Amino acid sequence: SYGFDTVSGREEKQGRVNEVFHRVAKRYDIMNDLMSGGLHRAWKDAMVAWLAPAHRPSYRFVDVAGGTGDVAFRIVEATRRRATGTVVDINASMLGVGAERAIKRGLSDNLRFLEGNAEALDLPGNAYDAYTIAFGIRNVPRIQTALEEAFRVLKPGGRFLCLEFSEVDVPGLDALYDAWSFRGIPAIGERVAKDRESYEYLVESIRRFPNQRNFAAAIERAGFERVTYRNLTGGIAAIHSGWKL
Ligand code: SAM
Repeated sequence: SYGFDTVSGREEKQGRVNEVFHRVAKRYDIMNDLMSGGLHRAWKDAMVAWLAPAHRPSYRFVDVAGGTGDVAFRIVEATRRRATGTVVDINASMLGVGAERAIKRGLSDNLRFLEGNAEALDLPGNAYDAYTIAFGIRNVPRIQTALEEAFRVLKPGGRFLCLEFSEVDVPGLDALYDAWSFRGIPAIGERVAKDRESYEYLVESIRRFPNQRNFAAAIERAGFERVTYRNLTGGIAAIHSGWKL
């Protein structure tokens, strides 16, 4: 396993994460479909449905670890193209793919793509109606720091939503999911992306992430209130919600 608890360990983790996403950026979207059987689309739709963003041009959101833009595109579409958002990601290769997709979809007036770290956002405080992060926070070395940053940038009354892999709570599904994670995903990584190791790392990072309840407690420690979560597909993924009140 990776020793991420020391300062050099955390740097090593971020370095490893950057390398992985730089390598996978071009094939990221197709790999997501293959690895999740298309489920990530339904999960992202569920996240945006729960967010229910307001249909007004003054609605501002930030999608952190936003990668190739999937969540941000959905939010803008859900507001009938009124909302504006900032997609922040530490990886320029992922953002590059996202910015190109935004142009193709005619969404570049609504979105800007900003290179940055979830642990220290180059964004003003008390400025956003929503902060979203999908399949991103488990890659961040200091999760608590990232949650505190989310709290800082949100307006009072603002909403935090996080979609992340979580702990399976359905008997039988866990064995199936293990087989898929430890054999299926690395095999697809090897065959399609020619990169088994990156996908082994992704599976490992899912297993190290706190379960639903422990993650909810971390969100509360950052200052959020009315923290709740919803499981998706038997807990393979979960959406956590919190409010800055
Ligand atoms: N949110 C997108 C989605 O759901 O399709 C992308 C998710 S992708 C699995 C994880 C993303 O987290 C990558 O684009 C990676 O570059 C980004 N990332 C990793 N560490 C980060 C950090 N410290 N700050 C911001 N983004 C980070």
